[in-house]
Amino acid sequence: MTAPAAACDLRPDLLGLTRPQLDALLAPVADRPFRARQIFDALHRRRVTGFAEMTDLPAALRERLAREFTLALPAVADRRDSGDGTVKYLLHLADGAAIETVDIPDGERRTLCLSSQAGCGLACAFCVTGFWGSGRNLTAGEIVGQVRCLEALAGLPESFNLVFMGMGEPLLNLDALTPALELLSLRLPRRKITVSTAGVVPGIDALATWPRRPNLAVSLHAPDDERRSRIMPINRTYPLAELVAALERFPLEPRRRITIEYLLLAGFNDAAPDADALVRRLARVPVKFNLIPFNPDPVLPDWMQRPTADRVEAFRNRLEQRGATVTVRRQRGHDVAAACGQLRAFDREPRGPRARGRTLPDRAR
Ligand code: SAH
Repeated sequence: MTAPAAACDLRPDLLGLTRPQLDALLAPVADRPFRARQIFDALHRRRVTGFAEMTDLPAALRERLAREFTLALPAVADRRDSGDGTVKYLLHLADGAAIETVDIPDGERRTLCLSSQAGCGLACAFCVTGFWGSGRNLTAGEIVGQVRCLEALAGLPESFNLVFMGMGEPLLNLDALTPALELLSLRLPRRKITVSTAGVVPGIDALATWPRRPNLAVSLHAPDDERRSRIMPINRTYPLAELVAALERFPLEPRRRITIEYLLLAGFNDAAPDADALVRRLARVPVKFNLIPFNPDPVLPDWMQRPTADRVEAFRNRLEQRGATVTVRRQRGHDVAAACGQLRAFDREPRGPRARGRTLPDRAR
């Protein structure tokens, strides 16, 4: 366990600022009009991790920046290396909040899985983050800071994928997501970035208006409202008809598709008629399915079980017979507690609505 930071750092962060925001903030500090551009380039083109590395600035200015501002770089509190190359980091933010960021190599490809909130208030029944309860929104700097932190630790290739599938609901943190995506897309084409949502319809509609919108993934997980509401309380606010309507009006470029994530829970949503119902529901949306066999955890309900490999295969085949494009999420980082929220669970006491009266499970570390 790591104690939270003794005091919050109230200095403004520079890492999460767009160029106009940086210009405005630095105007009273900069000795020359071009300083904001130099600093922006250092942060987002040279990708420095400290003011001392801004060697094109006069020493006095560097010192002043370091005194008056900060860079929202998270600190590594724990790291778990999986046999398959996946590395899961537990990161601490300046106020002691804990988040997870996962680095997933896959042959030539590399994917970073980012958190958008420290905790999550949506209380999905299968999700460990939901079990631990809501926390706070990350700032844009803390979102960009996850990438910078992993780059400094492990290096990153020219091109990689970014997925917002770590802790939190990104579309409930649009204020930070918007500038963070603007900054991250300075180095990555937006088709390399995917925002995953539990189905926040106003957020999907907001994303639809962005000219530089990233890929959209939706955690659907059940083919009807009755079952979806049982495992995802947000479905009571935005039921399937509303969610699917939002997907139908989401603008897509030619050949692009929305990813439908579908958690497979044995005996709950993994039967052939469920696959048929799913395809029917989404008939008017260009989608590809990503099947996610359930990742068990001691804090999750006992009735939730991972289906057998045969059952997963049968579900995939059924979808494919109906003309769907399907991938099955390979289990990555299983031995490092890689499902959403599982690593942070080592770090703190539970406080989500389902956590009441439960004690920290005894985990083999
Ligand atoms: N809030 C966003 C992103 C965070 S969760 C969303 O809901 O999409 C990222 C993905 O991990 C989601 O598809 C989520 O349903 C899935 N997930 C959460 N807990 C899981 C578990 N125990 N096993 C398998 N997948 C899980």
